[in-house]
Amino acid sequence: MQRTLAIIKPDAVGAHYVGSIIQRIEASGLEIRALRMVNLTQKDAEGFYAVHKDKPFFAGLTAFMSSGPAVVLALEGENAIRRWRDLMGATNPEDAEAGTLRKEFGTSIDRNATHGSDAEDTAAYELSYFFCGLELR
Ligand code: ATP
Ligand code: MG
Repeated sequence: MQRTLAIIKPDAVGAHYVGSIIQRIEASGLEIRALRMVNLTQKDAEGFYAVHKDKPFFAGLTAFMSSGPAVVLALEGENAIRRWRDLMGATNPEDAEAGTLRKEFGTSIDRNATHGSDAEDTAAYELSYFFCGLELR
């Protein structure tokens, strides 16, 4: 069993896609183990995306992630990290395959509807960034 952190980003929350995306998660067989709506400050977003701090898109990314409410979820299942990334599709919605969430709900590379952890170590960090031990046993 593996866990991963998923985020329904502010663009998708603002466009009222929360229900549709959660429906797709449940239909995929991934288990939702924890879920919360958050309003990140820019500092919170900078801490979350610290691995990207030297990238040219860091300021825009963290401003966007703190621009409105987001929904964070802990997903669990066999190969959860890979399965959630496959369900999201490519980072750029233009490159994402038909039927993926980013194709359907994303509008551009910097407004791509969802986030997913990319490895076991980043998943552990990201899950602990949002969920305490009581919420995620
Ligand atoms: P995420 O980490 O959000 O799940 P990802 O792992 O597919 O996405 P990363 O390379 O980790 O992609 O980039 C993090 C986020 O930064 C992307 O989701 C995207 O919104 C934004 N981003 C990545 N590359 C660019 C870029 N070239 N221009 C603008 N924004 C970008
Ligand atoms: Mg990433």
